Amino acid sequence: MPRYIFITGGVVSSLGKGLASAALGALLQARGYEVRLRKLDPYLNVDPGTMSPFQHGEVYVTDDGAEADLDLGHYERFTGVSAAQSDNVTTGRIYSNIIQKERRGDYLGATVQVIPHVTNEIKDFVLSDAGDDVDFVLCEVGGTVGDIEGLPFFEALRQLRQELPLGETVHIHVTLLPFIKAAGEMKTKPTQHSVKELRSIGIQPDILLCRADREIDAGDRRKIARFCNVRESSVIQGLDARSIYDVPLAYHDEGLDREVLSHFRIDEPPKADLSRWTAISEKLHNPDGDVTIAVIGKYTVLPDAYKSLTEALVHGGIDNRVKVKIRWIEAESFEGGDQAALLQGAHGILVPGGFGERGTEGKIQAVKYARENDVPFFGICLGMQMAVVEWARNMADITSASSSEFDNGGENIVGLMTEWTKGNERMERTKDTDLGGTMRLGSYPATLSKGSLVAKEYGSTSIEERHRHRYEVNVDYKAKLEDSGLVFSGMSPDGVLPEIVEIPTHPWFIGVQYHPELKSRPFEPHPLFAGFIRAAKKQSRLV
Ligand code: GLN
Repeated sequence: MPRYIFITGGVVSSLGKGLASAALGALLQARGYEVRLRKLDPYLNVDPGTMSPFQHGEVYVTDDGAEADLDLGHYERFTGVSAAQSDNVTTGRIYSNIIQKERRGDYLGATVQVIPHVTNEIKDFVLSDAGDDVDFVLCEVGGTVGDIEGLPFFEALRQLRQELPLGETVHIHVTLLPFIKAAGEMKTKPTQHSVKELRSIGIQPDILLCRADREIDAGDRRKIARFCNVRESSVIQGLDARSIYDVPLAYHDEGLDREVLSHFRIDEPPKADLSRWTAISEKLHNPDGDVTIAVIGKYTVLPDAYKSLTEALVHGGIDNRVKVKIRWIEAESFEGGDQAALLQGAHGILVPGGFGERGTEGKIQAVKYARENDVPFFGICLGMQMAVVEWARNMADITSASSSEFDNGGENIVGLMTEWTKGNERMERTKDTDLGGTMRLGSYPATLSKGSLVAKEYGSTSIEERHRHRYEVNVDYKAKLEDSGLVFSGMSPDGVLPEIVEIPTHPWFIGVQYHPELKSRPFEPHPLFAGFIRAAKKQSRLV
């Protein structure tokens, strides 16, 4: 049976709880343990699938097709363990399960209440099968202590602590130590209050991870330990790091993993092998130079909307020993702007995924610029669809080419997949939503053409990648588009769904229907991001 580590936050949000959890997972792995990370989200949406990227940042997609919190992306990037539907739950899903059970009569006439029914449902989720070999399950609760909607989750953790064997749970609370300039002092009071709040609902944290922008002195550590009722060695300092990939090393130096293990009474744990993280750090901080990638997107004001994409570009940089600078360009402003000036000095152009018509003409123009000027181009999901539309309009004489997503009266060479995929047995993970249509979600296989650029980048002709989209390029246009020189170098194994397009006469031009960024890891950069950054590095004439 696994041991459980609960991670909660206090004082303010955005303290990097998700990263801290992911980094701790990586450290336990480095000592040879198997880990699994789970996220409990107190909001009422059943999942973040319908939330705007402006509200919630990126929607992360798992192999088994869950639309999940972006923290699952951190977990995967730091541990390499593929997350699943069973690793993220929200209040919305908990209540939806309970209401279904209640309608079925499963509660045998009982009055259904927050305690025990909601808390039981949460506990069942936390304890649900983690896999046979898992040593530690790390469970992070979203939000901060004191939030009304988080209360049932904290209560469930409190109960679990009593119900699981003695010494088999550790509670870590992440807080903030602000430095007040006028006083010239670091303040411990918000941390004290946060722990007081936690204790008032019956939870005594074991370890405090105190985020701070400067060293915490010994006196403050003692004070925090005394007032928060924790051991002094359990007050761990979490300083801001240069890169998120330095965090595992930094927290290890502060003794986080050792302290966690000592609370589990594992006093002589296997030594940590951190070579993976030191190698990444070394490459990150000693680049040969830098490359600039222009990203023409529609949610560019909130970088969290492109979290995995940003990280995958960083990974591509690590692979090529270059620092990747991202120039965010709002697609709508690109449309009417001075495009040459906006793209001046960009060594690669990336058009990411997105939903809806806004900004798509700008994206199409960015594709055209990359194609005509031989700038390395990477189109992802909507970006691939727009690359095909651009080609159709300007190279294949389908001048009104468009997507039925925009319903603008053009010739729809991209359309709802249900129009031509009826009976396709591989659509099992599609999900009906009230937004009218089905989404292709999660991992699907594709077959790549021998000798193509993508096959070379992957070093394989059969791949599996994660999807999240409703529309597909209509295979009926394949012949016409190929006649004019576009190559459909990746297809679903049954040849029905175009997965990848490329232009063989261009230095590096690839569009993919799926989201390769979701599977990239710093220690295992995705081959397409590695290849794209390699092409950009060449473009920058570094090599
Ligand atoms: N809006 C497009 C679709 O639904 C692309 C989605 C995406 O980029 N993730 O097919």
